[in-house]
Amino acid sequence: MSTNTENPSIEAMYASMGISPEVFAYGERVWNSLKERFEEIDALSEYNQMKVINAMQKNRVSEACLHGTTGYGYNDLGRETLEKVYADIFHTEDALVRPQITCGTHALALALMSNLRPGDELLSPVGKPYDTLEEVIGIRPSVGSLREYGISYRQVDLLPGGGFDYEGIRRAVNEKTKLATIQRSKGYQTRPTLSVNEIGQLISFIKSLKPDVICMVDNCYGEFTERREPSDVGADLVAGSLIKNPGGGLAPIGGYLAGKRECIENAAFRLTSPGLGREVGATLQALGAFYQGLFLAPSVTANALKAAIFAANLYEGLGFPVIPDGKEPRHDIIQAVTFGKPEGVVAFCEGIQQAAPVDGYVTPEPWDMPGYDAPVIMAAGAFVSGSSIELSADGPIKPPYVVYFQGGLTWQHGKLGIMKTLQKLVEKEIILKDFGRRNL
Ligand SMILES: *Cc1c(COP(=O)(O)O)cnc(C)c1O
Repeated sequence: MSTNTENPSIEAMYASMGISPEVFAYGERVWNSLKERFEEIDALSEYNQMKVINAMQKNRVSEACLHGTTGYGYNDLGRETLEKVYADIFHTEDALVRPQITCGTHALALALMSNLRPGDELLSPVGKPYDTLEEVIGIRPSVGSLREYGISYRQVDLLPGGGFDYEGIRRAVNEKTKLATIQRSKGYQTRPTLSVNEIGQLISFIKSLKPDVICMVDNCYGEFTERREPSDVGADLVAGSLIKNPGGGLAPIGGYLAGKRECIENAAFRLTSPGLGREVGATLQALGAFYQGLFLAPSVTANALKAAIFAANLYEGLGFPVIPDGKEPRHDIIQAVTFGKPEGVVAFCEGIQQAAPVDGYVTPEPWDMPGYDAPVIMAAGAFVSGSSIELSADGPIKPPYVVYFQGGLTWQHGKLGIMKTLQKLVEKEIILKDFGRRNL
């Protein structure tokens, strides 16, 4: 194991990054068991890569599209073309893709606030939505919430096994129900992520009860993890963040909505102003990164999927509950690992941070965050601040002490990050030193 031969070993390289021989050997065993699975992921990214290129070619993306506008942003060719590209990828009538949509929460809030009116009711048929949406909806009292505007909310939880409560949904849909919000990804929960197929079944059921209910999908973290998107199975509207999957790690800001023409138009008038709608909104310097990031997104998402699958198998082998498990199909890029104690969550996040190309020297600590109801620890050493398509981990410090891990622009970085987490857990004696001698 020397570093000055003609072909220095990978093990030596890991050693120089602080990875012990035991952790390295265990990681290699896990990785070797995943080769077939990784081939399937490669086929997925191949399919989605062509979907993206096809949409770009069909809409005649040109060099001129890469330059943005300033001021009002009238006649922004690049913006208008990009919105057509998104609509083609999601197979929707229209799309809104803007740097002025500041994050995923904003994209979802925009979709809801623009398509609901006072007196309408919003339904979540998949249980509690993502933490930050509680304030958008007004589940937790909040200035400017839907609730303040007289929009009511009803929720039907998933059944204990994770399935849809069809009877409960039947009872919940009423004459006021205007929009159903369906969260694809588990977010900060331990429920299963919904597959596109399951989302399609749910939408058909809701439409069979009341055909004019707008079915919206919170698509955050789900884009390009399957060959189809929720809009391929009946969703009227999908929304997400460009600093997650579809930005490919390059988009420095932004969000998107794709869906029915009328839903998108409503959103455009709300995003800017009645009367102006989609005609304004300068793109400044963002378009080049939006296009190039979208081009990379299928492959970047595949890398993140590989890292998540590796983490699942590695921690499952050590006896920790993982969601999804090592074998099951993936519908988003998030991996949850339950440590059962705060020290496990903290050690994991320290490991991820120590693998980062940016801010790799800092130590993350639990902190109160706006929008969250418990202290959260976040590990990220990202080129784009807060980007969670880049290798990152976070966990609310509350039982059952689950860490949520996602991202990795490259699989190699994801692998290093996971190796570092295991190294940290071993060094802090949260995992016993003899782990490597036990069977996978
Ligand atoms: C990340 C996320 C959001 C919110 O996006 P932000 O960009 O953090 O505001 C909403 N829903 C889900 C499922 C998410 O993963």
